[in-house]
Amino acid sequence: MNILVTGGAGYIGSHVVEELQKSGFTPIVYDNFSTGHEEAVPEDVQLIEGDIHDVRFAKHIMEQFKIDAVIHFAASSLVGESMANPSKYYFNNVEGSLHLLEAMRGAGVDRIVFSSTAAVYGEPEQVPITEDSKLQPTNVYGRSKLMIEKMLADYDMAYDMRYVALRYFNAAGASPTRDIGEDHNPESHLIPLILKTAQGVRKQVAIFGTDYPTEDGTCIRDYIHVCDLAKAHVLALQHLLKGGASRVYNLGSENGFSVRQMIDSAKKITAVDFTVVEEARRAGDPAVLIASSERIRSELGWVPEHSSVDEVISTAWKWHKGHPQGYNG
Ligand code: UDP
Repeated sequence: MNILVTGGAGYIGSHVVEELQKSGFTPIVYDNFSTGHEEAVPEDVQLIEGDIHDVRFAKHIMEQFKIDAVIHFAASSLVGESMANPSKYYFNNVEGSLHLLEAMRGAGVDRIVFSSTAAVYGEPEQVPITEDSKLQPTNVYGRSKLMIEKMLADYDMAYDMRYVALRYFNAAGASPTRDIGEDHNPESHLIPLILKTAQGVRKQVAIFGTDYPTEDGTCIRDYIHVCDLAKAHVLALQHLLKGGASRVYNLGSENGFSVRQMIDSAKKITAVDFTVVEEARRAGDPAVLIASSERIRSELGWVPEHSSVDEVISTAWKWHKGHPQGYNG
């Protein structure tokens, strides 16, 4: 079956492309390379340079390749940037997704797996966070993804377009089998910043806030290995292709680790005693974010298998060591 993967040249998208191939699907990558990397796409995968805003072209590609379903990653995804430049997020994410849905409708494609985020919850009222928790995003990025989820629900109601929205917690790690990994510019995520410091590309890593109401005073997050995320996308796709109803699922390991714990693990795994400094809190960071993933475990049988902190950090470390400048070297 042919699956169009928008944003398939990005971090999570490229890992999902690998999992699709392993599971017998034919991924077709559709990416405008604004942040994606051509090198992240295997040579035997059809790669289309295209924009999700281009409804006519996207529809043409869906018809030409007889696309059975879409997995939609193409989006802007930096929280800080979304606050400074909301226009970019409403345009790329909300309007871009609307255009993609219109292309799908035009081409008669009616199944979509959507890349959503735990940022739709904002500051949680309780942890672990279930899918029924209040949706009150505290940043534009989270709001843009929530708007798309609502759009998907309306397209389902009116046009029978079935969707699965996957709300990721902290995606991390890298493929143990393919030479792909995390490469954002600028980089803002904790694990890549820690590992770039360990390898000497950066001088120091900062802990943003040491006065949170947690055991060691630093924020707690739920890190989920990108290969476990990838597996969930394939399960979601299979659910839709079997005729399953639209669903929303959290994807997290259900374990929380503090920033200090992540730094300590990275020091142990890399055997480098890199420099750590303490800074003020970063605006908008909730103290604790931990998922309940019970719903997807029980409904689709998803089991995270690679999300121990050791496996997350060691697979990411292998990628960073081989690519000190990301895909550029
Ligand atoms: N963080 C940090 N220093 C950094 C980057 C991140 O202390 O240089 C913290 C951040 O405050 C958060 C956690 O690490 O508590 C994970 O941040 P990241 O940006 O990786 O993901 P987020 O949780 O924002 O999606």
